[in-house]
Amino acid sequence: MNIDKYGNFSDWYNEIIKVAELCDLRYNIKGFIVIMPWAMKSIDQIYKFYDAEMERTSHLPAFFPSLIHEKSFGAEKEHVAGFVPEVLWVTEAGDKKLEERYALKPTGEAGIYPMYALWVNGLSDLPIKIYQKGWVWRHETKATKPFIRGREFLWIEAHDVFATPSEASAQVAEDAGMAKTVIWGKLGVPFIMFRRPQWDKFAGADNTFAADTLMPDGKVLQVASTHLLGQHFSKAYGIKYTDAKNEPQFAWQTCYGPGVNRIYAAMVAVHGDNRGMVVPYDAAPIQVAIIPILRKGNEGKVLAEAGKIETALSGIARVKLDTRDQSPGFKFNDWEQRGVPLRIEIGERDIANGSAVLAVRDTGKKENVKIADLNSAITKAGAELGARLASSASERFLKNLDTAKSADEMARKIDEGKMVKVPFCTDAKEGEACAKALKEKHSCDIRGTVFTFFNSEKCEFESSDKPHGEKCVSCGKPANAHVYVARQY
Ligand SMILES: [Zn+2]
Repeated sequence: MNIDKYGNFSDWYNEIIKVAELCDLRYNIKGFIVIMPWAMKSIDQIYKFYDAEMERTSHLPAFFPSLIHEKSFGAEKEHVAGFVPEVLWVTEAGDKKLEERYALKPTGEAGIYPMYALWVNGLSDLPIKIYQKGWVWRHETKATKPFIRGREFLWIEAHDVFATPSEASAQVAEDAGMAKTVIWGKLGVPFIMFRRPQWDKFAGADNTFAADTLMPDGKVLQVASTHLLGQHFSKAYGIKYTDAKNEPQFAWQTCYGPGVNRIYAAMVAVHGDNRGMVVPYDAAPIQVAIIPILRKGNEGKVLAEAGKIETALSGIARVKLDTRDQSPGFKFNDWEQRGVPLRIEIGERDIANGSAVLAVRDTGKKENVKIADLNSAITKAGAELGARLASSASERFLKNLDTAKSADEMARKIDEGKMVKVPFCTDAKEGEACAKALKEKHSCDIRGTVFTFFNSEKCEFESSDKPHGEKCVSCGKPANAHVYVARQY
C-alpha cells in the first residue's frame, strides 16, 4: 500500500485493516467484527502487559457472568439512565419468553457489586482489588469503526473497594500509572489523562479521569478511563463494613477500564507509515521474519541455514521462517505491511560470507550482520526501533498541543489537527451550556483539565493551571479553568 496517513487517515486505516488482515468486516451483524489472528496476537500481548501491571498493583483476577439481572441493573439510578439506551437484553430462551429479562453487560458494576455486598462485612475484607478481562456489549447509535467503536469490544475492568476516600483517590493515580506503563511504556502511545467535566463523567461516578491520545487525523481517541465512584454504588448495592467503633460505613469505590481494542487501534494508527503498519517490537506477533532468497538448485542449502537461524533466535524472539512459495519481493512487502519490526534476508552469497542481511521496518535500513552476531543484533535493533517509535510519537503529540484565547483561534488550530488549551468558564455542571455552544459551532468537545501526562509522575485532582483574568472562549465571562478542546472519536 501507499497512502498518505496524515493526508487521508480514514482511507489509510481502512486499507491497513485489509492488507494486514486485522479484522473481517463481513460479519452479518452491524457493529460486530471478527478480529483476525494478526490483531488478536498483539491484543493478547496488551493483555499480558496489563496482567503484569495488575499483579504488580495487587489486583486479583476473577470472572463475572455476562448476564445482569434487570433488578440489579436498576439499582444505581444515574448509572442505569446512562447505559439503558445502549443495553442489549436477553428476553427469550428457546421458544419461551423469560419471566425476567437479563442485560448483556455494557459494563460490570451492576453484576459485580451485588456480590461485593456479600463479600464485604468488616474492615478485614478491604480493600478489594479485582479485575476481569473480557468483553461487553453496547448498542452504539453512532457510526461504528473497527476497533474504535463497536457494539462488542474487548477490555479490562478493575473494580476496587476501600474503607476511605483517600485510598480511592490513590487508586485513581495508580490506575493512571498502569496506563503509563502499558500504553506509553510498552506501546509508545502518548496521551494526556484528563479529569472530565462534570457533564461528561461516567454515569454514577463522582469524577471520571480518561486518557486521550491523538490520532493522525487530529481527532482524539479515549483509550482508558478510571472513575472515582464515591459512595454512590456502595449505597445503591449495600457495600458496607463495620468500622472499629462497630458503626456501619459505606465503602469507597473506583473502577478502571482500559479499552483494549482502542489501545490496539491507537498503536496501529500512531506508529504506522504510508506503507503499512509498524508494530513496536514488544507487541509484535512476529518480531523477526526470515526470508530465504532461493534460486533453483540452492533451495536445500539456503533453507537449512535459514532454519538454523530460526532455531537459534527462537529463544529470544518471536521468529518466523517464511517458506511460502512466493517471491522474496512479495514476502518483503507482505511483512512490511503487517509491520514486522525486523527482517532477516539470507541467500547463497550471504551464507558464503557467514552473514545475513538485517532490515529494520521503520527506517528501511539494511545491514550485513555475521550470523553468529544475530542474537545480539536483533535484540539491540528491536529495542532501538521501540525507542524511536516512542520518541517520534511523543514529539508529534507534544507538537500538536496548543493554546488559544478565542473560539476562532481555537477552531483554526483544531482544524490543523491540534488539541487546544483554552480558558473556559468552568468545568462544573454549569459549564455544560458553554460546551454545547462550542460543539454546535465548531463540532469540538471539552476533554477536561489535565490530570496527568503520559511522561509525568504528577497527578492533579484539582488543576493548578488556573486562568488569571482570562475570559471563557465560549461565553466571554471570567474563566476559572483551563481545559483542552479537540474533536473526538
Ligand atoms: Zn463560558
